[in-house]
Amino acid sequence: MVLPADQPDVPGPDDGPACSVDPQYSDEAPTGLRPAVQAAWRSARSQAARQRITLCLNDGKRSRAQQLALFDDYVRQYGSEEIARQYVLPPGKSAHVSGYAVDVQPASAYRWLQATTGRLGWCRIYDNEPWHFEYAARYRSTGCPPRLPEPEG
Ligand SMILES: [Zn+2]
Repeated sequence: MVLPADQPDVPGPDDGPACSVDPQYSDEAPTGLRPAVQAAWRSARSQAARQRITLCLNDGKRSRAQQLALFDDYVRQYGSEEIARQYVLPPGKSAHVSGYAVDVQPASAYRWLQATTGRLGWCRIYDNEPWHFEYAARYRSTGCPPRLPEPEG
C-alpha cells in the first residue's frame, strides 16, 4: 500500500498516559490519524462512555520508521520475518502507517467496539488481533467485511 499524497508520513505518539481502566495499556492521543478517523475515534469513545465503557487507544498512528522499528523488534523476538508478519506488518502494508487503524484496549473495550459491527465505521479485521480495528466510512452501511485469519504481509 502506498501512502496517498494527502497523507504525510507523520509519526504518532510513542506512548501516552496509562489507560484509566487498565494501566498496563496506554491511552494515546489520536494524533496523526486521518481527520475522519480521529473524528470517528472520538465519536466511538463518547458513545462507549455513555455505556460506562472506556476505550483506550493503546496504539494508533505510526510513521514508517515507527512501524519498521516495531517490525524489527518482532523479527528479533521471533527469529524470523515470516513469523513476525503474523503479528505486525512491514511499513508499506500497515493501516497504522496509513492512518486508519487503532489498537483498542482493554478487552472490555474491544469487545464493545466489535459488537457495534461497523455501525460506527470501525471493524475488527483479523482473527488473531481482537484489539485491532480499521476505520472506513462504508462500513457504516455495509457492515464489517469477513475477517482475515491474520495480517498478511
Ligand atoms: Zn493494530
